[in-house]
Amino acid sequence: MYVCVKCKEEVELDPVDEKVICPKCSHRVLLKKRPDEPDKVEAV
Ligand SMILES: [Zn+2]
Repeated sequence: MYVCVKCKEEVELDPVDEKVICPKCSHRVLLKKRPDEPDKVEAV
């Protein structure tokens, strides 16, 4: 999952497809969206 830096549109890209273009605004700079990873480590 990527996020367009221009319009903040979430874009799902095919791993095989190297074209990284926002379908909404045609901006070519997309940021990789980090999965929700907990920053905190639970002490057990
Ligand atoms: Zn966009």
